[in-house]
Amino acid sequence: MIFLDYNSTTPVDAEVEAECNNLGDFWGNPGSIQHSHGERASSYLASARDRISRAIGVEVSEFFFTGSATEAASLAIIGLALGASPERPNVVVSSVEHKAVLAAAELAVKIKGGSLRVLLVGRDGQILPGEASLKIDTTVAVVACMSANNETGIEMDPTSLREACTAAGAALVVDATQSVGKADLAKVQQSADSFFFSGHKIYGPRGVGGLVIKKSWQKGFVSIIPGGGQQRGIRGGTENVQAAAGLAVAIEKAVRDFELNARLAQKAADAFLGYLAQDGIVFSIVGEVSPRLQNTLCLYFPGIDGDAILANLMQVKASTGSACNSANPEPSHVLLAMGLSFQEASSCVRFSFGVNHSEQEIRAAAAEVCQAVRRIGHLMEVVDYQ
Ligand code: PLP
Repeated sequence: MIFLDYNSTTPVDAEVEAECNNLGDFWGNPGSIQHSHGERASSYLASARDRISRAIGVEVSEFFFTGSATEAASLAIIGLALGASPERPNVVVSSVEHKAVLAAAELAVKIKGGSLRVLLVGRDGQILPGEASLKIDTTVAVVACMSANNETGIEMDPTSLREACTAAGAALVVDATQSVGKADLAKVQQSADSFFFSGHKIYGPRGVGGLVIKKSWQKGFVSIIPGGGQQRGIRGGTENVQAAAGLAVAIEKAVRDFELNARLAQKAADAFLGYLAQDGIVFSIVGEVSPRLQNTLCLYFPGIDGDAILANLMQVKASTGSACNSANPEPSHVLLAMGLSFQEASSCVRFSFGVNHSEQEIRAAAAEVCQAVRRIGHLMEVVDYQ
């Protein structure tokens, strides 16, 4: 198997695994600090929180463990919206957000009785000029935007929304799930009122996410998971100490090594592109003109169905970004939002690279993709492949 789907998930790093498996003595409930087992778990959790907060440049009291980025998105977007005054019933998102953000925003406005305003993007995947000033006003509680897109790798600069949010008094929530470990976190740290990420995208454990809510936005925050008051009532529920410890190792490495990781992924992606070009198959890169994560290639193969390409790949594991639900044949909402036609969007495949590919593996992957594209093109007679 040649795994080229690192934006969907990543293997667990050996140091992360060692940390997670090293918790024999820390099985107590971190909330039961009346006895030593609980106390030990509690101090282990506190140390993980400390390490993570330091790595991502926030205060310890601003960081919360969650079960995933999806949970973090719901907590942040709905919690901030519910905490806002009734005069702010509206929420703003970009049209290329992950479903985790779109669904949370939809639920927030349903509860608040407001409406969802969508910032439109252009063919380059960037929010169109004038959209922010048009749609972000004093009736908006929350603006949510990603720092990098999971399907195209296109980077979006959260600082471009900062001014409009500050002027309107709205909270800016940034989905940093794809950019953490692949790009500099500084702009997210500086401009977001809240941001989040996920363990399994950064060679960390599955089922754990990290959420930041800056201090000034915690006042009035309404948690949708208040539970037993853990994590100061912002995210109730007994924390997963093991996953928290693994997340600490993963995020430290992700933040420290992002430039090296980006270089390694780019080397693999460039080699892959080189082999495709050498073969002569017809393709283009979606969002080529925009700043993109080096590890992500969303490739458009004119006239060739993306799902058919995947079905013809024996070794290579990639993704079309379309709904997993086969009953829903809609192509990616992200690509449609960027102005690709239904047919164009159906002819794209996402290849996302990690940090550990061999030259041989990349060459074999490219050969298999070229063979699949040629075979389908020939069968469909859409492209005059020999
Ligand atoms: N946001 C983005 C940009 C993602 O790529 C993903 C996962 O694919 C998520 C959110 C959801 O992450 P999780 O699987 O941790 O819920």
